[in-house]
Amino acid sequence: HVYEQFTEQSVLVYLERKGLISDREQVTCREVGDGNLNYVFIVKDLQTGKSLVVKQALPYAKVVGESWPLSLDRARIERQALQEAAKYVPALVPEVFDFDDDYAVTVMEDLSDHVILRKGLLEGNQYPHIANDIGTYLAENLFNSSDEALGPVEKKKLARQFVNPDLCDITEKLVFTDPYKKSDSNSYSENLQETVESLWHDERLVFEVTKLKKQFLTEGEALLHGDLHTGSVFVTAESTKVIDPEFAFYGPSGFDIGAFIANLTLNYIAQQERADEANRSEISEYLLEAIEQTWAVFEKRYRELLLEKGFEERQQTAQYADFVLEKIWQDTLGFAGCKTIRRIIGLAHVEDIDGIEDAAGRLQAQQRAIETGRSLIFNRTVWRSPKSLTAYLKGLA
Ligand code: ADP
Ligand code: MG
Ligand code: MG
Ligand code: MG
Repeated sequence: HVYEQFTEQSVLVYLERKGLISDREQVTCREVGDGNLNYVFIVKDLQTGKSLVVKQALPYAKVVGESWPLSLDRARIERQALQEAAKYVPALVPEVFDFDDDYAVTVMEDLSDHVILRKGLLEGNQYPHIANDIGTYLAENLFNSSDEALGPVEKKKLARQFVNPDLCDITEKLVFTDPYKKSDSNSYSENLQETVESLWHDERLVFEVTKLKKQFLTEGEALLHGDLHTGSVFVTAESTKVIDPEFAFYGPSGFDIGAFIANLTLNYIAQQERADEANRSEISEYLLEAIEQTWAVFEKRYRELLLEKGFEERQQTAQYADFVLEKIWQDTLGFAGCKTIRRIIGLAHVEDIDGIEDAAGRLQAQQRAIETGRSLIFNRTVWRSPKSLTAYLKGLA
């Protein structure tokens, strides 16, 4: 086959040919993705009521009006990352029904009854299971893809499947490079110019970010999701599903945990401006608890797995578990800091902050986010537990 970009019509011809729908006259199809990198078609059979989702990678990314070529191989990587995760946490990812690497297509479970966590949080909703589910997702996926779990040969075989240069290049530029210099890809409000320039001139900070960048590039500890922000988590009151692992690669474990915690942190900072006074303290409590619990659940499960299945029996010691988890914790804070800063200064912001209507409130939130990012990076060896971070966040308000 030769790749072609599907339309709402041609995707049905394809699905019919593959036997995934029986009669294309009897289905509806809607493209719901934002179309910057990928198409997401939702296909519903009118007779059976059954539905499925077709995600197709596009050969380019549309960024700031320009086109950035991107390998279609990321569709395979995303699909294989979903399949890896399904081995350990099948309830926490969409089921993959079919795929076609020539068309850069994954056919998966329709999760339209879920909402994107970022949106749900911005509507003021609380989801009681996210910390437990994401903490579990992280521990299972990060441990089970590690050297300790897989041994020397299997780990390298798996890692070879997840060489993802194009998407790692995006992260490298947008998270670790461009926000720290004058760059066309940056985007921030004019009244932040002074704050941003003081960041660029902060040589201590740039050095710490450069060290984290080096870690991102060289430490193949575990198979990462690679883009675990609150827009990659689908939720209902009962269910959590992690989607969109097209940035998956072997990297430092703290990168995924840091991404998730950074996004909860950004939401917390935003809620100080967004939530009405009556709900603010409850929502704040909920978010701080979610940050603490995500790490607590991750740590507990990761430790159990390591003590049960790590390397050899002689090496499955509490001391070694402490050593591994302390390293992951410090990286979590450092990467969380980088992720927080890039969402204010770099390309691709978050609705949490940008959608704050009051201009003064928005500026306040942006400045707090940048300051929090710096603190996360500088204090990553000082803050020994999530309590230090949540105490800091409480002190902002
Ligand atoms: P992208 O990589 O382009 O960001 P995502 O996988 O994040 O693509 O999907 C984009 C949007 O499409 C999601 O925010 C969600 O609204 C919708 N979507 C993605 N996967 C599914 C699914 N399995 N079921 C229902 N909707 C989905
Ligand atoms: Mg998108
Ligand atoms: Mg994506
Ligand atoms: Mg996405």
